Amino acid sequence: MSHASHVTAPPRTAVSLTGVHQSYPAGVQPVHALRGIDLTITAGSFTAVMGPSGSGKSTLLNVAAGLDTPTSGRIVVGDTDISRLSADELTTFRRRHVGFIFQAYNLLPHLTVSENLRLPWWLDDRSPDLAREAELLRAVGMDGAADRLPAELSGGQAQRVAIARALALEPDVIFADEPTGALDSHTGATVLQVLRTAVAGLRQTLVLVTHDAQVAAAADEVVFLADGTVVDRAVEASAQQISQRVLDLGR
Ligand code: ADP
Ligand code: MG
Repeated sequence: MSHASHVTAPPRTAVSLTGVHQSYPAGVQPVHALRGIDLTITAGSFTAVMGPSGSGKSTLLNVAAGLDTPTSGRIVVGDTDISRLSADELTTFRRRHVGFIFQAYNLLPHLTVSENLRLPWWLDDRSPDLAREAELLRAVGMDGAADRLPAELSGGQAQRVAIARALALEPDVIFADEPTGALDSHTGATVLQVLRTAVAGLRQTLVLVTHDAQVAAAADEVVFLADGTVVDRAVEASAQQISQRVLDLGR
């Protein structure tokens, strides 16, 4: 590796969206949740997504993660054009290459912490990587809780386990949709710190929907959505600049 260290590799793209539209049938007029999104996420970066309620943030994450199929447009995750995959191929691809953290944790209640963490390997018919499991539990501060059930965890602890699970298979990208929305602000801040530290330490790519300008200020880039389009992008913006932009968008 060292002999080639003078060569600067171009930054890899983790995710790209080109001309992505998403419409939902609703009564007489369909809802246009996304109206032509063009977006490139660099591998290893931290991107914050902000915008008013209903602006399309969750829809954007869902289609970029392959949880939902867009009406039109192209989505490439790592080296794969996921717009071209069949439903079965997409399920397998998502399992191996995408991590998703929801507001509601989504742990399986009858499985222990350890078993929840091993799920990504089991679903992929593989033996769990026990060293990786231990590393992940340590990274989110949940070592020692491996045998507990989700019902025995606080919300913050449950979300730490969900974070570890999303990181398990070293996905091309981790999407987190308001992951601290169900937590009190102190716990939420701690969990976000855990998420960011784990993602940075493991050199993973993170796309995070947040309403918190302080959190967004720590991102490499902030993407602002309004009415289903990207209306602004900010690099190295201060929390104050970000708050002002969000306020302007809400008007
Ligand atoms: P955000 O996450 O920014 O609050 P969403 O992506 O959830 O916004 O929603 C964007 C728009 O799409 C909203 O008008 C919402 O009502 C609509 N929408 C989202 N999901 C669906 C769905 N499954 N069916 C119909 N309309 C939807
Ligand atoms: Mg949302």
